[in-house]
Amino acid sequence: MSFQVFGIAVSRGVAIGRAVLVASSRVDVAHYFVAVDQLQAEFDRLLRARDAVALELETLKAELPEDAPHELAALLDVHLMLLHDEAFTGGAGQWIFERHYNAEWALSAQLEVLARQFDEMEDDYLRERKADLEQVVERVLGALAQALGDAPAPITPRDFAGEDPLLLVAADIAPADMIQFKRSVFRGFITDIGGKTSHTAIVARSMDIPAVVGTREASRLIMQDDWVIIDGDAGTVIVNPSPIVLEEYRFRQRQSELERARLARLRHTPAVTLDGEQIELHANIEMPADAEAAVTAGATGVGLFRSEFLFMNREGELPSEDEQFAAYKAAVEAMRGMPVTIRTVDVGADKPLDRLTVNELRHEHVLNPAMGLRAIRWSLAEPSMFRQQLRAIYRASAFGKVRLLIPMVAHLSEVRQILETVKKVQQQLTDAGHAYTRVELGVMIEIPAAAVMLPLLLRHVDFVSIGTNDLIQYTLAIDRADEAVAHLYDPWHPAVLQLIHQSIAQARAAGKGVSVCGEMAGDPDFTELLLAMGLRSFSMHPSQIPAVKQRVLRADSLRLAAALTRVLESEDPRGTAERELASARTGTAVH
Ligand code: PEP
Ligand code: MG
Repeated sequence: MSFQVFGIAVSRGVAIGRAVLVASSRVDVAHYFVAVDQLQAEFDRLLRARDAVALELETLKAELPEDAPHELAALLDVHLMLLHDEAFTGGAGQWIFERHYNAEWALSAQLEVLARQFDEMEDDYLRERKADLEQVVERVLGALAQALGDAPAPITPRDFAGEDPLLLVAADIAPADMIQFKRSVFRGFITDIGGKTSHTAIVARSMDIPAVVGTREASRLIMQDDWVIIDGDAGTVIVNPSPIVLEEYRFRQRQSELERARLARLRHTPAVTLDGEQIELHANIEMPADAEAAVTAGATGVGLFRSEFLFMNREGELPSEDEQFAAYKAAVEAMRGMPVTIRTVDVGADKPLDRLTVNELRHEHVLNPAMGLRAIRWSLAEPSMFRQQLRAIYRASAFGKVRLLIPMVAHLSEVRQILETVKKVQQQLTDAGHAYTRVELGVMIEIPAAAVMLPLLLRHVDFVSIGTNDLIQYTLAIDRADEAVAHLYDPWHPAVLQLIHQSIAQARAAGKGVSVCGEMAGDPDFTELLLAMGLRSFSMHPSQIPAVKQRVLRADSLRLAAALTRVLESEDPRGTAERELASARTGTAVH
């Protein structure tokens, strides 16, 4: 039966493929394909892990003390029975032999199938056995992890011709897990949870693959292996489409690929408006390896390196100064002399460090993470870690143009502490004989307080970067990751537009650099408005650079600026912008 699920469009384009349901708790399980001649060996690896767990359970059972409650032995029997059930390894084996999944993936795929069968059982006792099944799977995954050395080499999707494209469906995916899906086998994402600028959505956009979030129940309604279309522009998911609908979307998919190829030709064209204003189009990156895509897309620098992604998936150990230095240096060298703006770690809110690390740092009881010990607050609360990061950033400055960006600043006292720490760090580096050059210091404008008091902040910094994702969240009191209030998350809200406009105007009046690095900068719907406000530096995912550049090439900044007041004073800024700013747009950029 064909049906649709509606969500929030977060990453454009159309993806067509088979659904792979992954339980949120198992999103971090490795997903890769195994070469055909290794399939039997992979199945054997699974059987060995199963046998190791069976032995462990048998031993546990044999060693139960005489007076142990008899439920314990019964429970171990249930686990052993599940483990030896044909539906367990046999089912997982099918995923290996037919789909070429690695053992961990095959096991979690089979768990999804069996868990649904348990959910549908009438009998309460049997239904509750799902928890036992999950525990058994957890044990086998643990055994597989212990024997990781035996795992086959993953083959990349490109080498694998026989498989339909795969689309990931999960209740939720944490940003830290998303990062592992970069260059993964999945061609699209669907989640129940999330908003347009949640970090999961941001990473999906950076991967340039279609995604829909905030569907609320896609992971319950979609079945393993269903045919699914993701319409990343409309925010809809079509499950088991009819042949006619499928054909229509295949056509749209081809059209959007052609459009991308057409836009890619703008790569070497300088971003200059019709009236000769030169515009910087910088890239947002999460890892040093992303710098290559930034150069390929024609970025003229990195406007936001979200360094916190280096701090995730660490299982307790944060990156050392040397490890950070190597990462920053790699990004700087990859940008070949173009500026690289490194933001100090912005953990907290929807980008938590993993549990172990957080516990170790004793910050585990977070009541309201978006308003808690996040970003610069966290860095100032962990001064030795902050100094370590600053040292690594300054050391990278010896290899290219580095700029330092501080997230979530709201107080002058924070800026003073940052400046003092920078001084201390410079002295430490000099004493240790490390080379560094001048690093411009910037703060992010993400909290309304910072925008309102900007003239004071500007006295102490070289540049500012407007983080519209958080600025909208904090101005409108809307959790950016919460789909329940996503309809109220409105970049067109007059208060948001006023704060952005004022910030750009004040920074320019003070002769300081100003850019926008939130998602608005990469959305072509806002290019003209931001140009009209006087913005000359945009930072976005590399994949969005061509579409924004096309808008820049067609824009006349003087005509746009003349229309700005009418937009800002309008009760319907979006409608007014569409009318007023579109009439100031001329010409066709791509020939
Ligand atoms: C922002 O808030 O706009 C921003 C760029 O930072 P992040 O999305 O990483 O919070
Ligand atoms: Mg932010």
